Amino acid sequence: MEKVDCIVIGAGVVGLAIARALAQRGLETVVIESEPAIGTGISSRNSEVVHAGIYYPPNSLKAQLCVRGRDLLYDYCEARGIAHARCGKFIVATSTQQIALLEDLHMAGRNNGVDGLEMLSGTHACKSEPQLSCVAALHSSSTGIVDSHAFMLSLQADCEAAGGVLAFASPVIAGSSSTNGITL
Ligand SMILES: Cc1cc2nc3c(=O)[nH]c(=O)nc-3n(C[C@H](O)[C@H](O)[C@H](O)COP(=O)(O)OP(=O)(O)OC[C@H]3O[C@@H](n4cnc5c(N)ncnc54)[C@H](O)[C@@H]3O)c2cc1C
Repeated sequence: MEKVDCIVIGAGVVGLAIARALAQRGLETVVIESEPAIGTGISSRNSEVVHAGIYYPPNSLKAQLCVRGRDLLYDYCEARGIAHARCGKFIVATSTQQIALLEDLHMAGRNNGVDGLEMLSGTHACKSEPQLSCVAALHSSSTGIVDSHAFMLSLQADCEAAGGVLAFASPVIAGSSSTNGITL
């Protein structure tokens, strides 16, 4: 029976990030992926938005991790030359009744520690983005986009450089755990 320190099941963005972190801590790490390549699941079917952290409940772990993770992601992309753009985002009110909702979002984002949030009049928002049609907008300057496949390739490279191994076309169909780790 083969034994390793850590098994990560799934080579999506989450599995790759975890495997990278484990391998870089010196743990023998194997990623087991059912498909023949990395990132063929949800990680290749998303909008590639780097979220600012506006929508999560105040003081939630999700809110904290989103704000911290966003900054780490931008730093990592910068350091590795991964295509990304801190392009910002407008959340718009198309009627005066919606302005209160925008103000609530503004407050929630600030409570979550999201920087770069600004309430704009419709005129101001449309001046900077002429395609918009709105009566007010919340601008989030820390929202962006990222080439998620390039990001995953970089996580894979880091993992392998630290001694991690990826096994493709290997669906996990059963397993058991013990205090010493998982035995397959
Ligand atoms: C429509 C949509 C849009 C989204 N837009 C965004 C966005 O803009 N920004 C953002 O941050 N997030 C977005 N998300 C969320 C984001 O895509 C996911 O949170 C993320 O991709 C999840 O990654 P994962 O590694 O957990 O899952 P996955 O990418 O699905 O990876 C799981 C992996 O496990 C493998 N696997 C499954 N079962 C087994 C098994 N038994 N044995 C071996 N391998 C197995 C699968 O093949 C797969 O490769 C979006 C999600 C959706 C659905």
